[in-house]
Amino acid sequence: MTDSNFSKGMTGLIHHPYTPPAGFDAPQPGVFKASTVYFPSVADMRQREWKDKSAYTYGLHGTPTTYMLEERLCTLEGGAQCVLVPSGLASLATVALALLKSGDELLLPDNAYGPNKALAEGELRHYGITHQLYDPMDPDDLTRKINARTRLVWLEAPGSVSMEFPDLPELVRRCKAQSVLSALDNTWGSGLAFKPFDLLGDGSGEQGSLAVEISAHALTKYPSGGGDVLMGSIITQDPSLHLKIKLCHMRLGLGVGANDAETVLRSLPSIALRYAAHDQTARSLAAWWQKQAQCAQLLHPAFEGAPGHAHWQALCDRSPGTGLAAGLFSVMIAPRYTQAQVDAFCDGLKLFKIGYSWGGPVSLVVPYGLASMRQSWPAHLKPGTLVRFSAGLESVQDLLLDLHQSAHAHLPLV
Ligand SMILES: *Cc1c(COP(=O)(O)O)cnc(C)c1O
Repeated sequence: MTDSNFSKGMTGLIHHPYTPPAGFDAPQPGVFKASTVYFPSVADMRQREWKDKSAYTYGLHGTPTTYMLEERLCTLEGGAQCVLVPSGLASLATVALALLKSGDELLLPDNAYGPNKALAEGELRHYGITHQLYDPMDPDDLTRKINARTRLVWLEAPGSVSMEFPDLPELVRRCKAQSVLSALDNTWGSGLAFKPFDLLGDGSGEQGSLAVEISAHALTKYPSGGGDVLMGSIITQDPSLHLKIKLCHMRLGLGVGANDAETVLRSLPSIALRYAAHDQTARSLAAWWQKQAQCAQLLHPAFEGAPGHAHWQALCDRSPGTGLAAGLFSVMIAPRYTQAQVDAFCDGLKLFKIGYSWGGPVSLVVPYGLASMRQSWPAHLKPGTLVRFSAGLESVQDLLLDLHQSAHAHLPLV
């Protein structure tokens, strides 16, 4: 036991008897950092339980800071349990490693987040786990591809880069009809545009309502909001499913740093305000694009005529005019413009930075070679060169001027 005899010299710097008074209370929770966690006795150490978050055993298994972030993320998404991982991609990988074994099959939408496909083609294939791609806009294609070996179906709403919005409730029904687990990459919706565990909006999940089994989320995007943190979460409602993921997470030695968890805790209270602001800006920019002759097709699920718009309305816009849609959209630049012209347009932007990821304060732009990212050119997409925009928090007027000046300079009207 520490006592005042040890308050002097070097030992005093390590075993000092002073403890600050309890009861400190302030807007932001304290930040707890640890590898080692103390036990008051050996007996206590032997019976400590960490899997149900009733106590602490080791920094990797959780601290007050990570437990608090997990609980708040469950509130955001409407789930019951949460596991934190070091990136959004790690959340996708951990789900796969926790739930799949050699001989199993995984289904991915053709428009899945690219690195999730790469994982299936790389490590998962090496481990004897096969995969097929399904057309997310055709629920019958999903049903056809589910077979006796299918264990997990990934869902995304909307799809990465091409932004088509699937009939998510119907895809989940198709999975349930064949008793296959459905896992949603919920990064776009972020727990705000729709509730992954209450897809029909008729209950809080659990009993009755239609729900995915797993919601994975790149906290790197809106929950962080700063473009400066990498983190992911895996949220579930079924305790036994959570335990499988939690045990795999422990065995892989995954964890998140306390300062990163603190940053996300600091950003969470403003997520709804930021999400709505990014959404508004993105819609103003998309509306501008829709009027430009260089735009062959606008890919923004909240816009009439965009692929899957009716599915977005049904899921996210139940009281018409109130639906949310994040700050992300793509534009199919007409095929008469060369890749070099489109690249020059992107290079010519001053406020939009060229860079991956999204959800931060700075607007971003990336041209994508979509043809190499899909099995075949999707029937609902016009030909052209795809450019994806992520709306930041700059003044809309300035962003519009920026788009205008670079389009004028590099995408000449004929
Ligand atoms: C960014 C993103 C990820 C990966 O998140 P990282 O933290 O960058 O690994 C996964 N899925 C989607 C849909 C994303 O946008």
